[in-house]
Amino acid sequence: MRDGFGRDISYLRLSVTDRCNYRCRYCMPAEGVCKRRREEILSVEDCIAVAAAAAACGVTKVRVTGGEPLVRRGIVEICRGIAALPQIRELCLTTNGSLLPQLAGPLREAGVDRLNISLDTLRPTRFAALTRGGRLEDALAGLAAAEAAGFRQLKLNVVLLGGVNDDEIADFAALTREKPWQVRFIELMPMGPCADWPRERFLSADAVLSRCPALQPVGASGVAELYRLPGAAGTVGLIRPLSHRFCGGCDRIRVTADGRLKPCLHQAAEYPLRGLRGEALEAAIRAAVAAKPRGHRLADEGHSRAQRDMNEIGG
Ligand code: SAM
Ligand code: SF4
Repeated sequence: MRDGFGRDISYLRLSVTDRCNYRCRYCMPAEGVCKRRREEILSVEDCIAVAAAAAACGVTKVRVTGGEPLVRRGIVEICRGIAALPQIRELCLTTNGSLLPQLAGPLREAGVDRLNISLDTLRPTRFAALTRGGRLEDALAGLAAAEAAGFRQLKLNVVLLGGVNDDEIADFAALTREKPWQVRFIELMPMGPCADWPRERFLSADAVLSRCPALQPVGASGVAELYRLPGAAGTVGLIRPLSHRFCGGCDRIRVTADGRLKPCLHQAAEYPLRGLRGEALEAAIRAAVAAKPRGHRLADEGHSRAQRDMNEIGG
């Protein structure tokens, strides 16, 4: 499916809940979110119908996200339904990992191909402070459970927080010496609770290259520039939503947990899909894709126009 600028749109990021068992300081307010009523949130059947209609329009890759997708009731059924769609070649899920000890096996069996696990620190006290109450040991148990369930090439998402976790860059990169993982450092985007954080929190991904001078460039994968430490089993990825623009090659659309299609992460425009089925749903998706803007102006304007927090959009 082509948008108005000739870009091929083949990737759907589907948020299945706005709730989360953590309150990461850059993502959610301390008091949590004002939870939407259950009837406002896409049902299990709605989630599968949206993915099916997107697949009929040309989407071949789906990422399930949130909030925390693993707190969503019916998450395994949602994944099974999407994995069964014949057009879907890749089903991925992004999670904080804390509930993987119970769910990694069922998700694998349901057809999830790949997991991204978010982990911003390897220090227990810092972890509890950043997530406002999460336990590092749960996240590490989740990583182990994912490997045991057969998820081999895990991606670890580390948001760079200047003055908070940049002293751990080398420790995270060192994980790739033994593990065939892609450890991805992501520049913090000024949205929601972190929109007005001081400038020093927003670190350029170049900090990773200066802290780890042994990293060698080895190409790119999607939006990540890839590097490798000499002889390492895995790779280090740099994702630069701030200092580099992805808009020219953007292949994605997002659907929020309350069923609104966002053609661009950082623009306010949304197209309601909830309650639609069949041809009407496909027509709404095509109309939203046709209206996808050329790009956003996050770097110039210094703030997102999304009018929603990340926990509602899913990253
Ligand atoms: N709860 C799941 C998790 O944490 O992986 C999925 C949802 S979370 C919103 C998806 C990703 O967005 C996480 O890797 C998180 O660190 C990232 N994220 C949230 N707010 C961000 C921001 N302002 N800038 C960059 N990344 C952000
Ligand atoms: Fe929850 Fe993920 Fe946001 Fe952290 S980043 S509060 S784990 S949704």
